[in-house]
Amino acid sequence: MQAFDVDILVIGGGSGGVRAARLAAGYGARVALVEQGAMGGTCVNAGCIPKKLYSYAASYAHAFEEATGFGWALPTGQRLDWPTLKHRRAAEIARLNEVYEHMLATGGIQVLRGRARLADAHTVVIGNQQITAEHVLVATGGSASLPDIPGRELVMTSDAMFDLPQVPRRLLVIGGGYIACEFASIYRALGAEVILVHRGTGLLSGFDHDVREFLQGEMDADGIEFRFNATVREVQAEAGHRIVTLNDGERIVADAVLCATGRRPNTNGLGLEDVGVALTPDGAIAVDAWFRTSVPSVYAVGDVIDRVQLTPVALREATVLMDRLFGSGTFRMDYAAIPTAVFTHPNIATAGLSEAKARARFKRVAIYRSTFRALKHTLSGRATRTLMKLVVDSDTDRVVGVHMVGEEAGEVIQGFAVAMRAGASKAQFDSTIGIHPTAAEEFVTMRTATTMPDYDVPAVAG
Ligand code: NDP
Repeated sequence: MQAFDVDILVIGGGSGGVRAARLAAGYGARVALVEQGAMGGTCVNAGCIPKKLYSYAASYAHAFEEATGFGWALPTGQRLDWPTLKHRRAAEIARLNEVYEHMLATGGIQVLRGRARLADAHTVVIGNQQITAEHVLVATGGSASLPDIPGRELVMTSDAMFDLPQVPRRLLVIGGGYIACEFASIYRALGAEVILVHRGTGLLSGFDHDVREFLQGEMDADGIEFRFNATVREVQAEAGHRIVTLNDGERIVADAVLCATGRRPNTNGLGLEDVGVALTPDGAIAVDAWFRTSVPSVYAVGDVIDRVQLTPVALREATVLMDRLFGSGTFRMDYAAIPTAVFTHPNIATAGLSEAKARARFKRVAIYRSTFRALKHTLSGRATRTLMKLVVDSDTDRVVGVHMVGEEAGEVIQGFAVAMRAGASKAQFDSTIGIHPTAAEEFVTMRTATTMPDYDVPAVAG
């Protein structure tokens, strides 16, 4: 048998790569991990974590307003000290980088710094160094992709949104997906005038149509302007501003332009094609059900395989693969009913099928929907409302979709996602005792179906 330097070499120190390395080491494997930048990948450095911190910062804008409804006499004119927020965020991210470094070091993982390139099916080159591995795992993630519009060099991607010199007075956001909606919401609450330009008819395609419409209404009430069915023809620079011309000729002046039109897998410069690793037509690494590429010793997980671009999915893929390579081999990856949240204001969270997808899959579907003003807002004075929706397969009584727009929706839906995976029926939801007074109890008290099997789903349905 050929002797390799290590049992597994992981390329990429993001969520998937670090999880894989730590698990492999825990199984007793000899592990090396290569990273060229800060440890933690997109999630820690320029994604989930800093975004959520800024989302918390944004939520104070509402909290100050709301507090007066509860009798708090606050001084007027609260203002955000943007440099302080940026500084504190950067310090927390640096702390997390160190935590990752420490976990790897204490886990007995050899960390190599630099850019990795595959030289052959078992050999990776990092600068002058060469290391051989029985297995190579590519977990290099993805990066923002910009459409080919004139002036694209004048727009920013989400990477730059955390360190802007100041909160822009006028922000134009291109795109209608996760990142566009989250940053539009966050920067609106931080004080920017925000216009969101989207090529589609509504936000967040693929989500349930009620969720989409409800969120749009809430964002609209917050003062975010929308241009739907709109594309950007050109971006120009003028006197320190950006002039964005839309396809219908409208010219919008902005101080910053964020383009959030999707992310593409990081596959360039890794030597993948040279060693025979096949890519999909979209440029992702093609893998089988066990994350094996067309080269049997090379595997890939996370955004670089572009199945579902979510940190917890990459973590699970890494877990399943490490169990396969070094453990029991009994774990399976299941992409069904992945819960997800969008950290807009208010949050969206969802698990399972939209109404439209359920109607396409099942013969008879019942919908339970409730919109209400949460108890807090009876005194806060804010008009914001909450939406909750259950989608039920009428023939089996199974709950196949749970959707929420409202405060802490992600926190609420995580538990319901467990119930759904366990195959909970609507009757079981109904027999569960609510926690009172909460918003979440609405999910176990919705008794009357609002739409029955013969209902026509609107054309914009997700
Ligand atoms: P999304 O896929 O969510 O959204 C991309 C948006 O850009 C869509 O509205 C899409 O329109 C539009 N679009 C795509 N191509 C073009 C184009 N050429 N011109 C104009 N518009 C275009 O991608 P994001 O960049 O927002 O986020 C990437 C991924 O990161 C997400 O899919 C998600 O998986 C993950 N993410 C998760 C978060 C979370 O868990 N909270 C937060 C942020 C990101 P259309 O709908 O018509 O295709």
